[in-house]
Amino acid sequence: MTVRARSFEERLDALSELEHHFAHHDAWLERLHRTLVCRIPAEADITDEKAHCKCNLGRWLGDRGETIFGHDPRFAKILSAHEVMHGQARTLAAEAVAGRPIPPDRYDRFVEVLTALRTEIKALHTDLATGIVKSDPLTGAENRLWMRQRLEFEVAQAHASGEAVNLIMMDVDHFKRINDRFGHLFGDQVLAGIAESVTASVRAQDLFFRYGGEEFLLCIRHADLSAVMTLCERIRTTVEGLRFSGPQDEDVRVTASFGLAPLDPGTTLDGAIDNADRALYDAKAAGRNRVAIWDRPAA
Ligand code: GH3
Ligand code: MG
Ligand code: MG
Repeated sequence: MTVRARSFEERLDALSELEHHFAHHDAWLERLHRTLVCRIPAEADITDEKAHCKCNLGRWLGDRGETIFGHDPRFAKILSAHEVMHGQARTLAAEAVAGRPIPPDRYDRFVEVLTALRTEIKALHTDLATGIVKSDPLTGAENRLWMRQRLEFEVAQAHASGEAVNLIMMDVDHFKRINDRFGHLFGDQVLAGIAESVTASVRAQDLFFRYGGEEFLLCIRHADLSAVMTLCERIRTTVEGLRFSGPQDEDVRVTASFGLAPLDPGTTLDGAIDNADRALYDAKAAGRNRVAIWDRPAA
């Protein structure tokens, strides 16, 4: 199985690459200003017709941009602002080197495009950095640090619009045995593989958190109890169907137990998490590898 943690590492790589190439862009800008002020010939990444593809940032955007930012409309905006900015820089440099004065409004337009480009790049940088801070490095699930804030926001929104919200507490069965038998490193791979399969099983609007250790919490909106039960069963059978190969090529299988509890408007977040936890305990007590629904006490 592939390990979803790679996506976390990919995001880390993307962030450091972006910082590196953005620094190059600053150095390019300093060279451009040197040409404009001192009226000296400039390099090809300023003067060339295709300078936007030749400069360091442009090469990186071309090579890696689509992989990293593919679906983000801001990426297309960056590409076009970058090309426009280079076109203007080329004209300014040509005027300066030829000894002709640069009309202030033309310089102002260049600064405008440059500022817009920098703002968009910084916004992507912030998104990448925030995504890293919010996720768990091993599993790629959202982390506990961020969970409460995210859940409280989602739950307030759902309650305001009268939607049902359900929580699912999921715990890998007998996970300690996996560690004891195959070692913690292998246990880590299994956890990452389980999280990857859960991520693939849920809908884009569902929230998936690593609650701690081998426990995960899912928050399901826009679905009634029977739909959530079906989703839970789907995740359970997916986990049950996973095949890992151990350090000596052993066939390793895992199961997980699930506790489901609704988060009604009258219930606090902590109360609902506690209810899901109780249901999980019931699923464990009933033999594991199953889904249990919180049994509301009689009024
Ligand atoms: P149960 O079915 O009752 O849940 O049994 P269990 O063995 O899964 O539960 P227990 O709480 O006894 O053990 C959980 C184990 O999960 C112990 C802990 O070392 C392991 N664990 C927690 N976090 C990680 C992790 O990040 N990586 C690895 N490899 N193991 C972890
Ligand atoms: Mg467990
Ligand atoms: Mg546990």
